[in-house]
Amino acid sequence: MSKMLINGQWTDALNGETHPVFNPANGQVVDTVPAASRADVDLAVKAAQAALPGWADVSPDERAALIRQGLHQVAAQAKEIAALLTAEQGKPAFEAQSEVQHFLHGMEFYAGLASKLRGAQVPLPPALGKHAYGLVLKRPVGVCAGIVPWNFPLTLMGTKVGPALMAGNPILIKPARTTPLATLKIIGLLNEAGLPPGVLQCLTGAGSVVGESLVTHPAVRRVALTGSSETGRRVMQIAGADFKRITLELGGSDPCIVCPDANLKRALSGVVVGRYWNAGQQCLAIKRLYVFAEVYDAFVEGLLERVGSYRLGDGATRPEKPFIRMGPLHSAQQRAEVEGQLADAVARGAKVLIGGQRPNERALKDGHFFEPAVVLDVPADSRLATEEVFGPVLPIWKVKALDEAIEKANGSPWGLGSSIWTQNLSWANRAIREIEAGVTWVNQIHYGYDELPFGGVKASGLGHEHGPEAVEYYLERKGAVFGGLDWE
Ligand code: NAD
Repeated sequence: MSKMLINGQWTDALNGETHPVFNPANGQVVDTVPAASRADVDLAVKAAQAALPGWADVSPDERAALIRQGLHQVAAQAKEIAALLTAEQGKPAFEAQSEVQHFLHGMEFYAGLASKLRGAQVPLPPALGKHAYGLVLKRPVGVCAGIVPWNFPLTLMGTKVGPALMAGNPILIKPARTTPLATLKIIGLLNEAGLPPGVLQCLTGAGSVVGESLVTHPAVRRVALTGSSETGRRVMQIAGADFKRITLELGGSDPCIVCPDANLKRALSGVVVGRYWNAGQQCLAIKRLYVFAEVYDAFVEGLLERVGSYRLGDGATRPEKPFIRMGPLHSAQQRAEVEGQLADAVARGAKVLIGGQRPNERALKDGHFFEPAVVLDVPADSRLATEEVFGPVLPIWKVKALDEAIEKANGSPWGLGSSIWTQNLSWANRAIREIEAGVTWVNQIHYGYDELPFGGVKASGLGHEHGPEAVEYYLERKGAVFGGLDWE
C-alpha cells in the first residue's frame, strides 16, 4: 500500500481510509492509496505555511540546484516511473516514457528560469521629489495548490510544481483519484533529494473532498486546476469567495483544417497523432477535422489506412511491427461516454468508416478498450460535434473555402488549440488571427511546448501554463516608492 507525502513524511489518512487504483487494461488493483479528508488537507496546508518563509528565502540558484538533484533521480528511474504510469493510466509504454521526458524537460525549463525572474525600476514625476523612483517587487504568492487530471498526470503536475517552486512558493499537489502512483513516486524523489519538508506535498483522494478542501482553505492563496470545464466552473465559484488567484486549464474541442495545398503526408501524421495519442484523451486533441473538398477523398483514404494500423492491447506490451499500440480508455465511465456520443451521431445519420466498437478478443474483455474510429456525415447538432469527445473518435467534415472552415472551427464553446495545414502564408495568417483559440499550430502536431504559454479562451479556461509567463501567476507584485532621497 502506498502512502501520501505530508510535511516530508509518508503518511496514511488520519481516518485510515484508503481507495484502490485500478489498471484500465485489465481491471486489476495496482495499488491502494490513502483517501485523505479535510483534516489531512489542514495538516498539509499548515506544513506549507510553516515552510513558506524559509523557502522564499532560499536563493534562486539553490532552489534550482535542489530541484535538479531530484530530477537526476527521476531521470535515473524513468523506466520504472513510466511503467507505473502505464499500469495506472493505461497509456502505452512509449507514450508513458515520453511523458516522463516531457516532465523532466519542463522542470528543467523552470529550474533554468529561477535566477532570471525580475521586477522593475520606474522613473516617477519630479513633483514627488527629485530622483524619486518606483520599484515593482515580485514576491511569492504564498501557499499554492495544484489539481491535476488523469490524462497526463506527470506533465500537468510539472507545469504547476516547476513555476510554483521556482517563484519561492510551497505547493500541494492533488493528483486525480485514479492516477496518483507515478506522481507520488516523483514527488517522493524530489523530496528525498533535499527539498525542505512542507515545500512539495502530495495528497491523494477524491476531488470533491481533497480538491474542494484545498480550494476553500483560507490559507491557500493560489489554485491551478487542469480538468474539465465543469470542474473549472465549480472551482472558480468556490475560490472566488476568498479572492484566490486561479488559473483554469479546461476542456477543448480543437479544430484542424486541411487545405488543398497541404503536405498531405505530414498532415496525415499530424492528424493521427493529434487525435489518437493517449487513445484520444487529450485536452488539445483534434476533435473536429475540416478537410477541403479537393483533397477530401485522398485524405480520408490515407487516414483509414493509418487508423487501421492501431492494435489494441495492454500498454505494457508491444504489437508486432508495423502495428502501433493503443491502450484502453482510462475508465468504464470514459468509454461509456464516448460510446454514447458516437451512438447519438449514428442515430442521426453519421457513418462510421472504421472502428467504434469494443474489441471481441477475450484477452481484452476486462479492460476499457475501444477501437479507434473515423466518422463522416456527422450532424452539426449531434453530441459528437457539440461536446468534448475524450476518446479515439474523429468526425470529419468536407469544406469548400477557408471562410467556411474558420466559421465552423469557431462554432464551439471551447477555444483551446487549433491547427491548419497549408503552404499558403496568407491562409496560415488568417487562421492564426481569426480562429478563437489559445494556440494555432501551422503545419504542426498539437503539442504543449514548455517554452510557449499555453491556455484556452472561452470555455477552455483562464490564464496560462508553460513558458516564463506561467511563473507570473505564482508571484505577487508589490510597488514601492523611493521619494525625497535628496531633499535638502
Ligand atoms: P476532472 O475535472 O474530473 O478532474 C480534474 C481534477 O480535479 C482531478 O484531480 C479531480 O479529482 C479534481 N476535482 C474534481 N472535482 C473537483 C472539485 N469539485 N473541486 C476541486 N477539485 C476537483 O477532469 P478529468 O476527467 O480528470 O480530466 C479530463 C478533463 O481535463 C478534460 O475535460 C480535458 O480536456 C481537461 N484537460 C485540460 C487540459 C488543459 O491544459 N486545458 C489538459 C488536460 C486535460
